[in-house]
Amino acid sequence: MKGIIVHGGSGKWPLEKWEKAKEGVREAAQTGYEYLRKSGDPVEACVRAVMSLEDNPVFNAGTGAVLTLDGRVEMDASIMKGSTLEAGAVAGVENIKNPILLARKVMEETDHVLLAGEGAMKFARAMGFEYYNPITEERRKKWMELKEKFETGEAELPWHKMQELIKKHPELLGGTVGCVAISDGEIVAGTSTGGVFFKLFGRVGDTPLIGAGTYATSFGGASATGIGEGIIRVVLSKSACDFMRIGVSAPKAAEAVIDIVNSSVKTATGIITIDNMGNIGFAHNTPTMPVAYIKEGEEFVYISPDE
Ligand code: ASP
Repeated sequence: MKGIIVHGGSGKWPLEKWEKAKEGVREAAQTGYEYLRKSGDPVEACVRAVMSLEDNPVFNAGTGAVLTLDGRVEMDASIMKGSTLEAGAVAGVENIKNPILLARKVMEETDHVLLAGEGAMKFARAMGFEYYNPITEERRKKWMELKEKFETGEAELPWHKMQELIKKHPELLGGTVGCVAISDGEIVAGTSTGGVFFKLFGRVGDTPLIGAGTYATSFGGASATGIGEGIIRVVLSKSACDFMRIGVSAPKAAEAVIDIVNSSVKTATGIITIDNMGNIGFAHNTPTMPVAYIKEGEEFVYISPDE
């Protein structure tokens, strides 16, 4: 049984970006699935799918990641292999093209799980990652506009209360990317992001935190998106995997953890899941979340509940 699901971030996707987001998730799922079919290697398939999303400037990961309050890009990523619980993650990395590849290096080449900031960058250069500027003109423009509004008092940005900010500007969220892949019982999950728009420098969200943004066991895998501060507090991806461990199907596990969010932290959140029976699920409490999945005999692309 082989299957793959990807997401392009929960939030509010402006209509004019729907086609690009849809095309982007479709392409990523196809890239990953094609590899999965040929090789049966879910780690490489997951990495290839996430890289395809990172390289697509419409998503908030890799090229086109959102800017911090001080106009830089600090990216987070993680990957986890369900059968062995091996995991690798990076937080606050700058000037590399594909953070998911660096997370994989942490998993495969070190005895650690998470490297952050300067140390992670030193490791990246040692691993041969070249300098790359992921900032796109569009993101820079958006940042300048917001900064100006903030400075003139036209916009209030209570970023210490991130959920308030996102309630007012749901379009600021979204674009984080993630993937869960299964091949003959081996489940892998991976997630990559630029974080939340206008975040304070040094802020680390859920994405690189194993259990929060990404988790996989031999029973199921999950990748989350949304306001990291909420996802961390409910340990979202691990919770979904715990449901799948006791026999809850991937779609029901995704719904159950979104219910937990809605009745506790109440923050904007989305999740994708696969269980070891090959069931695929996703759920979100945001206006939308681009999703694509492919499994034997079935292909599905989705962007909005109204579509
Ligand atoms: N979860 C990401 C973070 O908080 C953001 C997102 O998914 O859009 O860093």
